Amino acid sequence: MYTAKAYSAASATSPLAADSIPRRAPTDRDVQIEILFCGICHSDLHSVRDEWHSVMPTIYPIVPGHEIVGRVVKVGAAVTGFKPGDLAGVGCLVDSDHTCHHCQDGVEQFCQNATFTYNSPDKHLGGVTYGGYSESIVVDESFALHVPTNLNLAGVAPLLCAGITTYSPIRRWGDIRGKKVGVVGLGGLGHMGVKFAHALGAHVVVFTRTANKKEDALHLGADEIIVSTNAAEMQQHAGTFDFILDTVAAEHDLNAYINMLGRDGNLTLVGAPEKPLPVSAFALLFGRRSLSGSLIGGIAETQEMLDFCGQHNITADVEVIPIQRVNEAYERLLKSDVKYRFSIDMASLKSS
Ligand code: NAP
Ligand code: ZN
Repeated sequence: MYTAKAYSAASATSPLAADSIPRRAPTDRDVQIEILFCGICHSDLHSVRDEWHSVMPTIYPIVPGHEIVGRVVKVGAAVTGFKPGDLAGVGCLVDSDHTCHHCQDGVEQFCQNATFTYNSPDKHLGGVTYGGYSESIVVDESFALHVPTNLNLAGVAPLLCAGITTYSPIRRWGDIRGKKVGVVGLGGLGHMGVKFAHALGAHVVVFTRTANKKEDALHLGADEIIVSTNAAEMQQHAGTFDFILDTVAAEHDLNAYINMLGRDGNLTLVGAPEKPLPVSAFALLFGRRSLSGSLIGGIAETQEMLDFCGQHNITADVEVIPIQRVNEAYERLLKSDVKYRFSIDMASLKSS
């Protein structure tokens, strides 16, 4: 065991502050990674503030962070896929039981015994797992991802959650070339959804409350933008979408978006608002529309996504910050005041 510097929150109302945490010495199958960048996902904020209490109560202190990119510094004797000096990524998962049908099917995120990167029982040290707002992390090599070497690392970090969470449902939908695809909410997830849908050949339409995001949306790869507060604009597109990805982090009217779908259209929720969202049966019945959800992605698909990003030169648009500005960043995230993901430069932790 060794001690690592980190930022943690002591309660749902405490700010994040400098702390030190235990990390296990790498076992035979582990890699130890020096963290270079960690993205700030809205899930970090939901978790720190215990907003998902009824589903996943937060255990304090919490060290959030599941958009991790770094460099391998040590490997266990049985590790074959990584060596010291390699780049490595870690997303929302650090372990699973490797045996259940979900693991066999490559969707480890649904394994009943999955270990999430933070706030999950820690099999090795007891207590809970601690995430990436830290100088290092130790994971089983089968949950470490290979990072393409041609990409900007600050912009790679958010791919490990925002990237895979949007890539996976878009790929699962099928061949979206030429299809009308909506992305609701132009935040961390939303802007990645736009990039992937565009790269895969869809006609991409952004729904946003924020009219002044228009130029950005077009630049990111959108073909059109709908200001969701403008009823006339919404009405014009009713019943025309093949697929809509909803990334909104707060309460909103889901039915307004279901009504945008054409026959057999699907709306997939990836946003995880704290409170339930009412759904109109009629919005689904007329047009045989469907509503579904999606949770991150499995490890093999995450690797596929990273390779796709390497080939297509895709990274997140990031604002790099030192860890000392993390609390301010959370307040700005709540106001949708970030273009489009904060990425923490972990070198800043050295001076904490
Ligand atoms: P984010 O950067 O804050 O983006 C969310 C966007 O939603 C905002 O930029 C805003 O877009 C829109 N929005 C926010 N409040 C709204 C409101 N009251 N009404 C309508 N629109 C609103 O957050 P994120 O990191 O992308 O995460 C989005 C959600 O996905 C969070 O709930 C997060 O926990 C969840 N998540 C889920 C998974 C999964 O596996 N399913 C993985 C990661 C994250 P505009 O300004 O353009 O309107
Ligand atoms: Zn996340």
